[in-house]
Amino acid sequence: MSATKALAYVLSTQDYRDTSLLVELYTRDWGKVRGIIRGVRDARARYGSTLEPFSLNEILFYRRRRGGDLHQVTQVELVDDYTDVREDLERLSYASYFTELLNRLVEPEEISPETFDLYRDALEFLRDGASPKRAARLYELKLLEVLGHLPELRACVVCRAEPDPAYFNPAFGGVHCRTCAVAGAARVADGGRGMPVSRRTLQFLDRALRSDLRGMKTAPAAPEVGPEAEKLLRRFIDFHVDVKLKSLVFLDKMGFN
Ligand SMILES: [Zn+2]
Repeated sequence: MSATKALAYVLSTQDYRDTSLLVELYTRDWGKVRGIIRGVRDARARYGSTLEPFSLNEILFYRRRRGGDLHQVTQVELVDDYTDVREDLERLSYASYFTELLNRLVEPEEISPETFDLYRDALEFLRDGASPKRAARLYELKLLEVLGHLPELRACVVCRAEPDPAYFNPAFGGVHCRTCAVAGAARVADGGRGMPVSRRTLQFLDRALRSDLRGMKTAPAAPEVGPEAEKLLRRFIDFHVDVKLKSLVFLDKMGFN
């Protein structure tokens, strides 16, 4: 076993045996790391927000090559606990959602530095006081992209024409035009045409894919863009994630979404 040092975001923690914690951490170079921190529960007060979801720590862990994928985490040192995000219930709720979605979509030790950077940028976006809803839509879109699950949003998935009007159906893997929607309606799981999506929403999503998060902070959006983008991305993510995320239920319940 060799010691490895890494910057890691806390994705989740749960009690393990008498005094230890089972942690899921997200690192840039090793992906999602599942590990055990021994004897930590007695000293929890000392750790404060260190082991709370989305806090950033420098960790030292010993990689196990055999006996499952649980590594031994021996040092955890807080780098940033995003206090300002944590102190605002709406931002805290969104950061929790970002974290749960990441944890759900990323496989253990699937290495993706782009995903780590995107998650960090999304937390920064929340910290900067930008719209949490906009942060969520951009994060969802780009997370799907970096993980290779992005639906087709430019051309009709069937005939490749530019769809106008456009319909979106997760079962089709993207948008389709009216002709193909009618022709394919019988084959679509929900029997419908999918949800109508305006040209302006597709243009906004296209622009978001070609820009970084920071560049989208003040990009103008027509009133229908936010609600349509939310519905479209939610339907697509629901299609991929088979359980209801607790953080999302909470966002809905509080009316933040
Ligand atoms: Zn078509």
